[in-house]
Amino acid sequence: MDKTTDYLSIVVPVYNEAAGITETIDVLENYIANRLEDYEILFVDDGSTDNSVRLIQQAMDRNENIKLIELSRNFGHQVAITAGLRYASGDAVVIMAADLQDPPAVIPDMIEKWHAGNQVVYGQRVSRDGENLFHRFFSALFYRVFRAITHIHVPLDAGDFRLLDQRVVRILRQMNEPDPFLRGMVSWVGFKQTSVRYERQARTAKNSNRRGHLLHLAMDGITAFSAVPLKIATWIGSLAMIFGLVYLGIEAFIGLTTLKVLVFSLYFLVSAVLVSLGIIGSYLFRVLNATKHRPLYIVASTHGFSNPERRSIV
Ligand code: UDP
Repeated sequence: MDKTTDYLSIVVPVYNEAAGITETIDVLENYIANRLEDYEILFVDDGSTDNSVRLIQQAMDRNENIKLIELSRNFGHQVAITAGLRYASGDAVVIMAADLQDPPAVIPDMIEKWHAGNQVVYGQRVSRDGENLFHRFFSALFYRVFRAITHIHVPLDAGDFRLLDQRVVRILRQMNEPDPFLRGMVSWVGFKQTSVRYERQARTAKNSNRRGHLLHLAMDGITAFSAVPLKIATWIGSLAMIFGLVYLGIEAFIGLTTLKVLVFSLYFLVSAVLVSLGIIGSYLFRVLNATKHRPLYIVASTHGFSNPERRSIV
């Protein structure tokens, strides 16, 4: 790819990435500086408790294109990305993870497809080295279920690694959702979207104690975009009721009664009610969150911006 004159922002959410952040910065700098006239790398520190911030600041001392937004605590990586998008001023914004699982080598392909007229270019993984079977199975299942039960066409096997045109970024800023699920929101926005396929690398610095957030993300994604789980609850409840009625009918007719069947029916009904309550609860919680009108995140400090105030306004 020839050097491009566009201004590119690269948004990188960071949560306890001290083990690998320096390598990520080196690779990014080598890759980007040779290919872009003008760029900014925006690190959003999502309440790291390790050395991540210090390491980023060291890199900032020698590269003025690196900027840092420190959030006041850990808000979760979707919110950290959202914060980064609000501060990004590029003609296009690339979102990538801090651990080199999203290879910077793919960025030139993304830029080419953007130049070809696409407003969104998402990275689509063809392999998932270093991820265990559970992770792979869960991801595959999630993308397929999401696609089946929402009317939103979220591409299969695509994470948050993507390039967004500034028009899309501006719309995302206006969306202001309390529990953002960016992959769904980007698909919802529309415009011309395409993919770049790439091999996903193993993590450079293994951090396996964050698996819980994937389940969280899946639940947020589904309750943000689909009412089908609520309907499933109704279906289970209706089935359980029909089952109970038929059973009662048979019992009344034949006089057949066994404690086991009774216990089973009760167990089934109670679980259906519990499942339904849980699902309704998730939706209610979203409504509750939306009514609080709290800011999505709190910025503790920004570094490297010439006019940070201007950027902090949506
Ligand atoms: N991250 C974050 N806040 C969090 C968890 C993760 O900012 O609470 C960052 C993390 O440092 C990384 C990116 O979000 O840069 C993706 O995180 P991770 O690799 O854990 O997600 P996965 O790739 O497993 O979906």
